[in-house]
Amino acid sequence: MGVWLRDLPAALTGWGFDVRLVEGWQTRGHGPLLRSPRGVVDHWTATPFTSYAKPFPTAELVKVGRSDLPGPLCNLQIGFGGQVSVVAAGLAYHAGPGNRGVPFTGNSDSIGIECEGDGRAWTPEQIAQYPRVCAALWHWYADVKLSNIVAHYEWTTRKIDINTWPGGMSSFRQAVQAATKGEDWLMALDQKTQDLVAESAGTIDRTFDVKFRSQAVDPETGKQSEWEGWLSEFIVNTNADAFQTRQDVAKLLAATTETNRLLAQLVEQGKTK
Ligand SMILES: [Zn+2]
Repeated sequence: MGVWLRDLPAALTGWGFDVRLVEGWQTRGHGPLLRSPRGVVDHWTATPFTSYAKPFPTAELVKVGRSDLPGPLCNLQIGFGGQVSVVAAGLAYHAGPGNRGVPFTGNSDSIGIECEGDGRAWTPEQIAQYPRVCAALWHWYADVKLSNIVAHYEWTTRKIDINTWPGGMSSFRQAVQAATKGEDWLMALDQKTQDLVAESAGTIDRTFDVKFRSQAVDPETGKQSEWEGWLSEFIVNTNADAFQTRQDVAKLLAATTETNRLLAQLVEQGKTK
């Protein structure tokens, strides 16, 4: 069995990320993950900022690994400009032994993110996007809990990344929680409802985005009505027409009742003559 994260690009869709797929990402990994990811481990690559022109100086390293540790070394990588690179759908060697009481096993059920840099100079783009990338994964993978989005140093005392995150990891997780796709009301719903809303919205748009010509025929002239309009417009007008018609019918009924009363009076008068 096992799980290949072939849906990573889908998980990142709709957030406005600059997503790059590293060739072969679909089959890259030390086999599949054991199960659907339960956590996310946040790292830095420990290489200093160089330039925006080369956003992924360690792209090759995280893909193939080092002499002592074969790649992939992460599932996703974040560049200096906040770009997101999909490195591996399979298990990556990133977390190492650890636990700190966090209820996931490590590499086999977590997503590893390597952010370019050594933690001394986070770029504004990285500050903006790192929590959002985690938010995308949190929203997409049902088993990932907010509390299981952790820094490597939280996972194990052997590591210090990413302990220079501004405000610390509680601030990081607050940013994850606050991050949205830009559709706040939609993001407040659970994933299934979101999908349903998106699907229905598409259907409604297509259904109402239709222009048509009235089929009504003028009984006097025998000519077809010239009215032409959008289906949505027609429904709104029909609603107004129906309301007006109900009011007219009520007036007609009142008038008929009055006429009947007058007629009955006349009949009675005729009888007495
Ligand atoms: Zn690390």
